[in-house]
Amino acid sequence: MNHMQYQAPDNLLDGRVIAVTGAGDGIGAEAARTFAAHGATVILIGRTVPKLEEVYDQIEKAGGAQPGIYPISLDGAVEKDYRDMHDRLEEVFGQLDGLLHNAGKLGQRTPIANYTLASWQKVMQVNVTAEFLMTKALLPLLEKSDSASIIFTSSGVGKVGKPYWGAYAVSKFAIEGLSQVLAHELEGTSNIRVNCINPGATRTRMRATAFPAEDPATVTTPAAIMPTYLYLMGSASEGITGQSLDAQ
Ligand code: NAP
Repeated sequence: MNHMQYQAPDNLLDGRVIAVTGAGDGIGAEAARTFAAHGATVILIGRTVPKLEEVYDQIEKAGGAQPGIYPISLDGAVEKDYRDMHDRLEEVFGQLDGLLHNAGKLGQRTPIANYTLASWQKVMQVNVTAEFLMTKALLPLLEKSDSASIIFTSSGVGKVGKPYWGAYAVSKFAIEGLSQVLAHELEGTSNIRVNCINPGATRTRMRATAFPAEDPATVTTPAAIMPTYLYLMGSASEGITGQSLDAQ
């Protein structure tokens, strides 16, 4: 079965609690709505509350389970904030079966020779360190699930470096590495599978910022790449770990 053509049953994620970062916009918002439409209770994690509230309303209007909203700024959060996140999610939801690390920062598009330390550090913080800290903090909750899925978000420039992509490309190489390390650590000792998705060119704010001259109408929509997200989040991917899948 090709994961890009995966057709998920409507009840795929019934009874599952799934956290999505960057859930207020772009791919993350689409993934949150899609997981909810397949039965999940979704925790919307992000920094811009009105955007999260909009996704919350869309999910409720569509008849999905009541979501949770967890505001956090990934560039400012420290280790204790993630421990607090664990405690709060455990208290409110009592379980966690999926974690989609989707939030990401593009940063500067400029040669390394001109790349500023400030932009470098911010991109690495949001795209790698925050994922490390959140995963570490939430692992005990995920370990209680009979079948949990962690998905990291990679990129084409996380596999082949390209000029001017700077820290963004390096951060995506790093996330592939983190995903593989964690996958192998958890393999055989837990029910958690760990994989990466490379969304491919997708019609979002980030894509429009990176390619301002491109006509967005020519770019794949977030909805069109959801089969791979559902495949990795649902039971069809049980036993699959340490992989990096292209969503298109
Ligand atoms: P997007 O529409 O710009 O969404 C990015 C999300 O990340 C937004 O919800 C944003 O929140 C959140 N975010 C950014 N910085 C944050 C921070 N410091 N704290 C908390 N949240 C933060 O971009 P997208 O295209 O959907 O990107 C989703 C993922 O796919 C990213 O990891 C990106 O690298 C990856 N990706 C995208 C493409 C593509 O073509 N679109 C291709 C390859 C990989 P706000 O809305 O509040 O800013």
